[in-house]
Amino acid sequence: MKLAVDGGTPVRTDPWPSWPPPLSDAQRKLVTEVLESGLWGATQGTRCAELAEEFARRSGVPYGVTVANATLGLFAALRGLGVGPGDEVIVPAYTFVASATSVLLAGAVPVIVDVDPGDLHLSARAVEAAITGRTAAVMPVHLAGSPVDMDPLTAVAARHGLKVVEDAAQAHGAAYRGRPVGGLGDAGVFSFQASKAMTAGEGGVIVCADQAVHGAVWSACNLGRRLGGAWYGHPEVGWNLRMTDIQAALLLPWLDRLEKEIARREAFVAALDLGDLPVSVVPQPTGTTRDSRHLLMLRVEAPVEREFLLTAMAAEGVPLEGGYPPLGTMAALTGAGARAEPCPAAEEASRSVVWVRQQMLMDDPARASDVSRALAKVLAGRSAAR
Ligand SMILES: *Cc1c(COP(=O)(O)O)cnc(C)c1O
Repeated sequence: MKLAVDGGTPVRTDPWPSWPPPLSDAQRKLVTEVLESGLWGATQGTRCAELAEEFARRSGVPYGVTVANATLGLFAALRGLGVGPGDEVIVPAYTFVASATSVLLAGAVPVIVDVDPGDLHLSARAVEAAITGRTAAVMPVHLAGSPVDMDPLTAVAARHGLKVVEDAAQAHGAAYRGRPVGGLGDAGVFSFQASKAMTAGEGGVIVCADQAVHGAVWSACNLGRRLGGAWYGHPEVGWNLRMTDIQAALLLPWLDRLEKEIARREAFVAALDLGDLPVSVVPQPTGTTRDSRHLLMLRVEAPVEREFLLTAMAAEGVPLEGGYPPLGTMAALTGAGARAEPCPAAEEASRSVVWVRQQMLMDDPARASDVSRALAKVLAGRSAAR
């Protein structure tokens, strides 16, 4: 048996649930059906189209397009909205790097602004302060499965004529003031990469409300073809950004259990009692009505070295994630032309915030005490050592 850092017995010795969850019979059946049909490509079968339609419906908008991954989905959404060279796109500092690289891919400049120091989501105030004559769009990221407070942001965007592209890569099933994310801006993008709440290993979907935007996004993903146009007609420049029907066959049946999985994670979070530990759950933004709990972000207020905390928690059988470095500190991004505003809140988060991943949140809520007991043990050990 592995030992805890104090040489004793770890708080948790049995494994956490694995991710993805075991294949369901419905997934097995539909994947087999697609495999046996030989119609594996999105241009051959109907499963990608069904998935796109269903995601659009669940997002409260009429149009959807499946895509190879969300990085390319964000790129295609920006492109479909006419964002390109000479434009600036405002992105939050505390997010996955792809939020910014998709902007670079579109030939535009990512402008990295700070997040709200409380909820760590994109702040409308920081967005407004960073707007220039070149700002074309803003990318709210529904981090950890909780939606950005969209009303103030949408108001700023409307005042300045900016497009809103929602990065909903982590927020399948989340809702803001009762409205599903993805359909709150001009376009929304979900990811099906291996770590996300619904996965086919890779994949993504773009949803939008406007027919012309849908046509442009579809064209970007389909080599510049026109919807319904000739196979070898390419009136626009576009790429092959398509997902496969085999992936869609894994994802369609998942939609039937997504709500149950979110409820399970929610129950785990509700059962987590941090007592008087110097640790708090990062609060949800104002207006959150459904947090899909992709991750649980914890702020550790104790003066504890991050590396020690992560190593000691792993040794206790409760591995946590360290989270994002602020995007503005990534030399590759600034070297490629990204501009970063001062981001003290994102910097603070990169030092004090750790994540509990979704697969752990899928465990029996009674096991939430493993997280708090391990934190108590590790933090007590640390202060004794000081
Ligand atoms: C995962 C993720 C992406 C990129 O998704 P891929 O499908 O892996 O390209 C973008 N933004 C955020 C916030 C993510 O978590």
